[in-house]
Amino acid sequence: MFTETDVLVIGGGPSGATTATLVAQKGFQVQLLEREHFPRYHIGESLIPETFWVLERLGMLPKMRNSRFVNKHSVQFVSEHGKLSEPFYFNIHKPHESSQTWQVYRQQFDQMMLDNARDTGVVVQEGMRVTEILFEGQRIVGARAMDESGAKHEFRAKVVVDAAGQSCLIQDRLGLREWDPVLKKAAVWTYWKGAYRDAGRDEGATIVMQTQGKKGWFWYIPLQDDVISVGVVAPCDYLFTSRASKDFETIYADEVAKCPGVQPRIANAERVAPYRAAKEYSYRSKQVAGDGWVLVGDAFGFLDPLYSSGVLLALKSGAYAADAIVAGLQKNDTSAAQLEHGAPILWREWTV
Ligand SMILES: Cc1cc2nc3c(=O)[nH]c(=O)nc-3n(C[C@H](O)[C@H](O)[C@H](O)COP(=O)(O)OP(=O)(O)OC[C@H]3O[C@@H](n4cnc5c(N)ncnc54)[C@H](O)[C@@H]3O)c2cc1C
Repeated sequence: MFTETDVLVIGGGPSGATTATLVAQKGFQVQLLEREHFPRYHIGESLIPETFWVLERLGMLPKMRNSRFVNKHSVQFVSEHGKLSEPFYFNIHKPHESSQTWQVYRQQFDQMMLDNARDTGVVVQEGMRVTEILFEGQRIVGARAMDESGAKHEFRAKVVVDAAGQSCLIQDRLGLREWDPVLKKAAVWTYWKGAYRDAGRDEGATIVMQTQGKKGWFWYIPLQDDVISVGVVAPCDYLFTSRASKDFETIYADEVAKCPGVQPRIANAERVAPYRAAKEYSYRSKQVAGDGWVLVGDAFGFLDPLYSSGVLLALKSGAYAADAIVAGLQKNDTSAAQLEHGAPILWREWTV
């Protein structure tokens, strides 16, 4: 099947849904292709206050307030010896409603964002995997995709947005990926029911806990239904390469034993999900846009989960890209210079 559209968005995570929604809000045709069927699992549960402004533009704030996501007001730190810091309350530093944010189940949050895109007029096709990027000279002009029956589809667009997360379709096709030589981190995580949680305003605090020798740190993110997401981040060499056992459960247990912050908090809890891992996810693209294309979210880059900035960057880069695309379509300019408008500053500010 052959389809022509103004904008083709590859990937239906937060960056793709944001770009697609904001372009569709201005009356342009948008097709979004997502290889999975939502709701699908994804890591990245802790939002930060700055997400408020893009969520507001998307019309998502009432939906977030009506959701069951746990309210997050603060972060707290635990030293390698188990010493707990005072909470860092966002509203003390910025007394504004944006200082309350959320801890989200990504399967639910991403579904809400994609439904919101549909409600704005985006044509969303799930179960549709992009297999090839189409060029005319240096310009990207569309993509080929395959549905679940194996049928092939061709899409032509004035602008193609790569929002395919770590698949990085355009970045890899053009050889633009730069792996971070220093970070080289890895993570192992799971979910616990009945683990310790604070009450009241502190219930939704993210707790960051160091392991002994400061080799790594745990995140502790309280979700709804009494579930807590608990994961360890450390250099990949330390967490995986230099160990006899590569078994996720063994590695996780070894690190819990070295973390006086985590041990007592999960001691009486029940594990309610498998162990999962991610390795060497720190990279960025040498270029954010070209003629007819732009990268958003993890399809541009991702460094470190320490600051919980991944979803914020997905939302913000999606908003920058959408504004550049809309302005470009209005004046019939979809060149690299137009499509990268503002984005290099965003990525420089947040990922150096
Ligand atoms: C260990 C770890 C912990 C993290 N913790 C946090 C956190 O606490 N807070 C936070 O904000 N961020 C966190 N992040 C980062 C966060 O997960 C990402 O930055 C965020 O999901 C990026 O959103 P995105 O829309 O760019 O990509 P994704 O959310 O990955 O969405 C990309 C979508 O594209 C689809 N896709 C891929 N290939 C194709 C294809 N060929 N055709 C069609 N569709 C395709 C995928 O199915 C997917 O749905 C963490 C990351 C890691 C690794």
